[in-house]
Amino acid sequence: MSDGPRYRRVLLKLSGEKFADDDNSISPQIVNSIAAQLVEVAGRGVEIGVSVGGGNIFRGTSPQAAGMDRSSADNMGMLATVINALSLQDAIEKQGVDTRVLSAIGMQEVAEPYIRRRAIRHLQKGRVVIFAAGLGAPYFTTDTAAAQRALEIGAEAILKGTGVDGVYDRDPHGAPEATRYSDLTYLDVLSHGLKVMDATAISLCMDNRLPIIVFELLREGNIWRVVDGQPIGTIVHA
Ligand code: UDP
Repeated sequence: MSDGPRYRRVLLKLSGEKFADDDNSISPQIVNSIAAQLVEVAGRGVEIGVSVGGGNIFRGTSPQAAGMDRSSADNMGMLATVINALSLQDAIEKQGVDTRVLSAIGMQEVAEPYIRRRAIRHLQKGRVVIFAAGLGAPYFTTDTAAAQRALEIGAEAILKGTGVDGVYDRDPHGAPEATRYSDLTYLDVLSHGLKVMDATAISLCMDNRLPIIVFELLREGNIWRVVDGQPIGTIVHA
């Protein structure tokens, strides 16, 4: 008899860019395919929270924001994450799984406020919980919010969905000799500046021994493979 999946509660970090294709800042096909993977995993009894970014729409540090007050630009970035969260919510619910968007910025007509105990309760009821608006404070990123929320809800791992199937020693595009790491320590990531999550997020994970699994998001079934403990991607740990 199977012992069930490796992880029972996880936090998926979804960058805003993952919502986009060449023509749309939010691609319905992509959002539907991500939703389908989440529906599959939730259907197998795994509790899953998603921390969404906003970089496909606006980032406080982007050239678009040049000359703006940084806090205002960051507020715009946080609102961008809410737009992505609502699109993901719609796609998941169309596929029959309940969700809640919990926003770190108050906007009760659109989303519930983030309350830790409520988030956990939603997870226990099988709802996919989508964390929007990062930490609700400027000068942070949704990577850091993902780490912080994962710790608060007691997630056993952060799943970082990317465009390639893990972390490589150099950019694998056009470099056939690039080698994928199967595992790395937090210090490897920090000292070599490897692109996993930003340094604040990595430090938070390191301090709390929260593993991060970097994997290729848009390959059907991959979220389940990671949750199931199959050896894909790169795991970052102590
Ligand atoms: N942001 C913020 N505080 C947070 C999270 C996000 O100010 O706690 C702003 C910041 O401007 C950031 C933008 O929201 O650039 C979008 O988030 P992020 O860049 O992390 O999105 P991603 O790169 O994952 O798409």
